[in-house]
Amino acid sequence: MEENMVDKNTWETLRRSFKARGVTLVAVSKTKPVGDIMALYEAGQRDFGENYVQELVEKQALLPADIRWHYIGHLQSNKVKLIAPFVYLIHAVDSYRLLEEINKYGAKNNRVIDILLQVHIADEDTKFGMDDKEIRALIDSYRFNEDALSHVRICGLMGMATNTEDTGKVRSEFVHLSDLFKTLAITSFAGRPYFSVCSMGMSADYNIAIDAGSNMVRIGSLLFGSR
Ligand SMILES: *Cc1c(COP(=O)(O)O)cnc(C)c1O
Repeated sequence: MEENMVDKNTWETLRRSFKARGVTLVAVSKTKPVGDIMALYEAGQRDFGENYVQELVEKQALLPADIRWHYIGHLQSNKVKLIAPFVYLIHAVDSYRLLEEINKYGAKNNRVIDILLQVHIADEDTKFGMDDKEIRALIDSYRFNEDALSHVRICGLMGMATNTEDTGKVRSEFVHLSDLFKTLAITSFAGRPYFSVCSMGMSADYNIAIDAGSNMVRIGSLLFGSR
């Protein structure tokens, strides 16, 4: 059997410090074999993130049922049905149409599917997401049609900062997202405690993200080795 590359010491250190700060660690296992996932599962990790639908579906079928699967990639409407039966949290919803599609398959599976809205905070065209105005417009539409959308639940925001050495820039992008999250929590989502997740921070920038107010980080290469 091949030796896996999982760094359990890093996992243990991160897990402790995140727990103390109320931050959920999502272990991003994309491209990594199920053996690597099991190594962390046996150590106690339960939240795992994937960003390809096919890969997620295959792994889910092979791994323990109590894993909380986070879908962190860009989700196409025609793939929602494949993950709807089991997905724990969809991180990157970026259109009302997708929200409706998730609701439809939530209903078909007799469950409520939790999602985050992806905010575009980086100044790179390659990263998906909506600007603040689009986020607010989507939330208005959602509130207006809430009765019809009872099988999907907006639980917070997610974003990715620009990939740059300029930590000041990364920080200001995360602060922007965090401010929007806090504002929505006391306005549009006042009295709705489930609106509680601010998902930002990856291997390279999680410390900045947590300082800026993140309470969920998505970490891959630091735990599983480079891809
Ligand atoms: C791959 C990925 C991560 C993890 O990236 P690392 O740099 O390996 O920690 C986090 N979020 C998203 C959306 C990703 O696609």
